[in-house]
Amino acid sequence: MVKFLRIIFTVTAVVLLVSVLMFIIPVRPGYTDSGYREVMGTFGRIVAVGDTVSAKRSIENAFRQIEAIEALMSRYKEDSVITRINRYAFEDVVSIDDDTFRVIKKAIEYSELTDGAFDITIGPLVELWSKAAETKIRPTQKQIGQAKSKVGFEKLILDEDAKTVRFSTEGMKLDLGGIAKGYAIDKAIEILQHEGMAGAMVDIGGDIRCFGVSYKKNKKWLIGLQDPDVNQMDISTQNKILVLELGNSAVATSGHYRRFVLIGDQKVSHILDPKTARPAVNLDSTTIITERAVDADALATAASVLGPSKAVELIETIAQVEAVMIPAGQTGIIKTSGADKYILK
Ligand code: AMP
Ligand code: MG
Repeated sequence: MVKFLRIIFTVTAVVLLVSVLMFIIPVRPGYTDSGYREVMGTFGRIVAVGDTVSAKRSIENAFRQIEAIEALMSRYKEDSVITRINRYAFEDVVSIDDDTFRVIKKAIEYSELTDGAFDITIGPLVELWSKAAETKIRPTQKQIGQAKSKVGFEKLILDEDAKTVRFSTEGMKLDLGGIAKGYAIDKAIEILQHEGMAGAMVDIGGDIRCFGVSYKKNKKWLIGLQDPDVNQMDISTQNKILVLELGNSAVATSGHYRRFVLIGDQKVSHILDPKTARPAVNLDSTTIITERAVDADALATAASVLGPSKAVELIETIAQVEAVMIPAGQTGIIKTSGADKYILK
């Protein structure tokens, strides 16, 4: 009997001890990596730190959110809000959803801040130069002039209360390609945070935002910047010019190092200068680091248009924004005054 009681006592003590230990020593969360998936016309990847079941579920919810933003803002989708605006906003006011309105409003703020370098009414010029890239035939002066006359953020009429959009000029077209990825990343991060992940990273086409702990113990998130001179499409073996160490921040890179075509010997970038109505040629690669991806995305596109000196001058005036730039045809990197704090030594 005594022996039996001793066994019961020992088993109870062990169970109690294990329970207490499990409570005191938290299990270090693992990480789940979605791998690359096709989203928003490019590749997206999410890494989430947390228990596997929750991390997997959160990653799927975050991807669903990104796809929902794409369904609203893509100019390639027949039933997107942007397609509806582009089709009907000259004839009549078009009522739109809160997300698309917010992004359009943000884009206009960046047009004002960058003196028109960033401009989502760039659509007609994007179409003209995309066709040129396809056919390898340069557009004529007349075609360029005609497209340019339909571009200009001041031609876009927004009604904040009614959440409507209207074009003042026939043939206008919006293109959110320079800002929508950033907005989608911020929305995805919101989900991962609300669902209790200890940390996460969302990457859409090289625009990235992260928060919390990374998958390397006690480490921040490490983001490599690709050397634009190496036209390397294989993301796993790309040459890195430097590595950024990020906590709760976003980083976006624009430039024509990946997406350009040659017409004759001229590089035709997908980023266009609204003032000249021609492809931007000043920067091979511009990286912006700031808190939110939507701001990083818009500013990276704008900086590619502005060129290195104007871009540095502008970014130095904005608090909490830093830039790392690689100018075309030069060696060396241009950095804003606070960029070093993000660069891994
Ligand atoms: P990103 O990759 O973020 O630099 O965005 C490039 C995309 O933004 C292009 O493919 C166009 O869809 C659009 N875009 C091109 N030029 C401009 C511009 N000057 N302002 C705003 N968006 C632009
Ligand atoms: Mg951008």
